[in-house]
Amino acid sequence: MEETKTYIRDARSPTPKNEQTSKTMSAIKAKNTKPELILRKTLWNKGIKGYRLHWKKVPGRPDIAFPGKKIAIFINGCFWHRCPSCNPSTPKTNIEFWQNKFSKNIERDKRKIEELQSLGWQVLTIWECEIKKDLDTQITKIKEFL
Ligand SMILES: [Zn+2]
Repeated sequence: MEETKTYIRDARSPTPKNEQTSKTMSAIKAKNTKPELILRKTLWNKGIKGYRLHWKKVPGRPDIAFPGKKIAIFINGCFWHRCPSCNPSTPKTNIEFWQNKFSKNIERDKRKIEELQSLGWQVLTIWECEIKKDLDTQITKIKEFL
């Protein structure tokens, strides 16, 4: 039982059939993922405060929201949201399932952004790999938005 615990908690996901897929999956969690924590900590250290986390009062529950300024930040995991720059691999089994899942995620991301924008929000998407590669640039981007 201990072993299955590391898999992502999503009843809709098939049980990973190969080592690599299960590794990838267990490294990914929906909320409070590591890059997000790193980013939040850095914002805090730079004195950027006043944001809400996973704010429910606007569409899409942005990972980081500055309600007063109407700025929403999404921190996207490269695997689930199909990062355009690092081009993550697709699991080799259950291809149809994954493709379906990914296209739904992409659609949802797009819809969230559109809904927020129609309410007058500015939306910034930051990818996991961008945080890992160049955190300073991401902080600068956020600062420019604020
Ligand atoms: Zn990426």
